Order: sequence, then structure tokens, then C-alpha cells
Amino acid sequence: MLNSIKKVDTIILGAGISGLTLGYYLHKKNKDFLVFDSNASNGGNISTKIKNGFICENGPNTVLLNNKSIKDLISDLELDEEIIYPNDNNNKRFLLRNGKLIELPSSFGKFLISNFLSLYSKICILFEIFKSKTRDNTSVYEFFNRRFGKEFHDTLIEPFLTGVYAGNTKNMSTKHVLKKIWEMEQKHGSIILGFMKKKSRSKMPKSFNFKKGLSRLSDSIFQKIKNKIRLSSKITSISKIGNIYEVSIDNKIKFHCNKLVSTIPAYALSDILYDVEVSQELKKISYCPIYVLHLGIEREKIMEDISGFGVLTKPSDEKNFLGIIFNSRIFPHVAPLGKDLLTVMIGGARQEKLIKLEKEVLFDKVLNDIKKLISYEGKIVMKHDFLWKRGIPQYDLNHESIISKIKNFQNKNKNFHIMGNYFEGISVSDCVEKAYALSKIL
Ligand SMILES: Cc1cc2nc3c(=O)[nH]c(=O)nc-3n(C[C@H](O)[C@H](O)[C@H](O)COP(=O)(O)OP(=O)(O)OC[C@H]3O[C@@H](n4cnc5c(N)ncnc54)[C@H](O)[C@@H]3O)c2cc1C
Repeated sequence: MLNSIKKVDTIILGAGISGLTLGYYLHKKNKDFLVFDSNASNGGNISTKIKNGFICENGPNTVLLNNKSIKDLISDLELDEEIIYPNDNNNKRFLLRNGKLIELPSSFGKFLISNFLSLYSKICILFEIFKSKTRDNTSVYEFFNRRFGKEFHDTLIEPFLTGVYAGNTKNMSTKHVLKKIWEMEQKHGSIILGFMKKKSRSKMPKSFNFKKGLSRLSDSIFQKIKNKIRLSSKITSISKIGNIYEVSIDNKIKFHCNKLVSTIPAYALSDILYDVEVSQELKKISYCPIYVLHLGIEREKIMEDISGFGVLTKPSDEKNFLGIIFNSRIFPHVAPLGKDLLTVMIGGARQEKLIKLEKEVLFDKVLNDIKKLISYEGKIVMKHDFLWKRGIPQYDLNHESIISKIKNFQNKNKNFHIMGNYFEGISVSDCVEKAYALSKIL
């Protein structure tokens, strides 16, 4: 029986960008490791599909070049030549007013003098410097409501955080979702004062994609280490025997390893972990569903100016979508000539009921909204969709207590590392940075 147990030094659970990046750097260090993923393809949330000449991203659409690890990874993989940066339209973002697309002013100053906000709301903002510091563990909703007023939260903060987390700002922890803003407020007692005292105005980092889509990143790593990756291999249990971790694959094959790294979602780890208490904590991390609908449309039949990154909605807009990315207006190569690619995001905490509708019913509702929004009378020349049943992890008000229990678990269980997108950063570049840092100590 014991002979049938295979041995490897390190096992990585999950071949999303976290697991792949870690595997890649362990490979460069000539380490003995294997990566397992339940899916038949690599990349996890990174998933590009090319249909009728349209390059559709089911998951992330752009990645920020905001840390050294992501820059180094791209260079290491010799992907620099394939990088595509968005054109100048990227700086144009739209919100809705009375159902119409309105371009958001390009700076906070311009925003303040624009008519996006009422006079009352502008006065509230000016008084922000006199507000006392916020107590620990405050929701994003409460934080902005108190500091800048409800209108500011509803008009700007809610739509933008919906664009990243698709969650409910009443549950989101300001400290973990908006770390820099939180720290500024705690240090200076005011966000406005914090910005005024900031010595250097840091430039917004560039975002990017690749000529053939973001899967180039995960696929390139996969190609380099594919003999170390086992796809369609679900981890069904983890146990600890002395200092060794035992991992079951598809309830059949068993592996023993000295080091174990989980990059799988919190709910998936919760199902297979031997520690009941931590397993319960992991279960508390909620994930918002996202339905992604890609539409190829005829450019000349669009009557509104949609030259920009896209539009985000707020609940009071009463639209059947959270936001739309105007992909081909920032990356023209993603659609055939004369066509436009739109990526519509539906669901999140706000529209959970909506995505339970029959697909055709939902499609009609969404299309109806879009036709009105951009005055479109043309055909839909391409349609592609993807549902993330548990798409985006939420950094809710219970986040700190969950994370401290995860950290305690790691302290007690030497060589068991838990990482991924459900703490310390959700973006692709955050995941790459964490994986690279971990590879240094393994
Ligand atoms: C719709 C959407 C849009 C996004 N947009 C952006 C964006 O524009 N920019 C950005 O930077 N980020 C974006 N993100 C976030 C970012 O894509 C993710 O946070 C990141 O890709 C997560 O990578 P990961 O490797 O940590 O996890 P994942 O990609 O979730 O990978 C985990 C892997 O674990 C596997 N797995 C699960 N259970 C098991 C098991 N029991 N055994 C074996 N394997 C298992 C899964 O199959 C999966 O492949 C978006 C995410 C989504 C869903």
C-alpha cells in the first residue's frame, strides 16, 4: 500500500496565475514540485477565448504593471514584444446620468467643479478635513458616507468598487479594500490633507494585455513547466502525518510532500482541509458571481460616442448590468475591422437574482439596455458568454479575523502555505508578486 504513495518535495494546489508563477520560479531553482488543477485547462481566472476574430477575456481584461514581479515575469517569459498597451481612450471612463453616457472628469479637481455632484455634496467634501478619524473595521459605505457624504459614495465609490469587486460596499472592509486611502486617513486624519501632504505625485501605473490575450501569460508559463503540471486532477483531501502532508487526487492517487502550497479558492480549500476550525473560517469568505457577456457589434451602427474604457453603473441607474468595457475602443486589435467588442459584466452582489434568469431572458434584457444606451440598431455579429459562479472574493468586515486565523494555522503547520487572491491583493499583479515572494523562501 505504502509503495503506491508517490513522493514529491512540494505540491502546489491550483494552476491559476498564482500557482503557475510559483511553479515557474521553483522550476528555475531546480526544485522538485508538482502543480495540480481540477480544471482541464490552466490559467484559472485568466481565460481568453478567440471567436470569429474577436479576442474575448472571460476573466481579467487588463493587468496593472504596478510591481517589479509582474514586469520581471513578462521579461523572463520573453513576452515584452507581445505586450499591448491601451490607447489614449483608456483615460476616458463613463458614468450614467438620466440613462445617458457622461464622461467622468479626468481629475478630482475637475470632478469637483463639474456638475456630477450637487452643491451640498461639494460642501460636504470640503468639510472632510474637519472630520475625526474613522474607527477600525469600518465598511466602505460608512467610511465615505461619513467623510464625503452619501452622494459622493453613491456616484463615484460604489460604481468603481463594483468594477473591481462586484460586491456590496456596506460589507467591504475599507482597511483591506482601499488600503492606501485607509492608511492616509489614519495617518493624517483626513484624505484631502493626506493627498495635499503627499510629497511625490505617483503616476498611475500602466495597464496592459497581450496581442493574443491574457492567456498568453498563463500559457507561456504552462509551456515551460508542463511536465510538472497535472490538469484534470482535483485535490480531494489533505491530511498531515507527522511533518508530511498527504494529498489525495480524485480520491484515488495519494502523494506525500514536505511542503504544500494552496492557491485554490478559499471555499475549495475549506472542503478538503484537515483543520475544522480554519476550514470554517475559509467558508466565511464570500465570492460574488459574475456573468460575462461578450458582444460583437457593427461599429457604424453605434450612434453614441463610446470612445473610452467603458461605463460603470450605480444601483439607481436600474440597468441590467454592472458595467461594460468598450474593449475595441482601447485595444483596436481585439475586434475585426468595422466591428466593436463589448464585454458586459452582470451579477455581483447587486444582481444575483438577475443571473439566475433563463439565459435568453437575461440576454434580451441586457441587449435592450445596451441598444438604448448607445442608440444601436445593428446586428449582434458575435456572442460569447461565461459564468463565474463564484467569481470574485470579498474582503468583508470579517476579513481581518479570518486572515489572522489563517496565519495562526500557517504558524502551527510548518511548510503549509496558503496564498491566492482572497487576501493581500486580488489583482493578477498582486498574485504574481505574492507567488514570487513565496518562491524565494521555498
Ligand atoms: C470576471 C473577473 C474579472 C477580473 N478582472 C481582473 C482585471 O481586470 N485585472 C486583474 O488584475 N484582475 C482581475 N480579476 C482577478 C484576477 O483575475 C484573479 O484574482 C487571479 O487571476 C486569481 O488567480 P489565482 O491563481 O490566485 O486563482 P484562480 O485563478 O482562481 O486559480 C485557482 C485554481 O485552482 C483550481 N482549483 C480549485 N479547486 C481545486 C481543487 N480542489 N484541486 C485542484 N485545483 C483546484 C481552479 O481550477 C483554478 O484553476 C478578475 C477576476 C474575475 C473572475
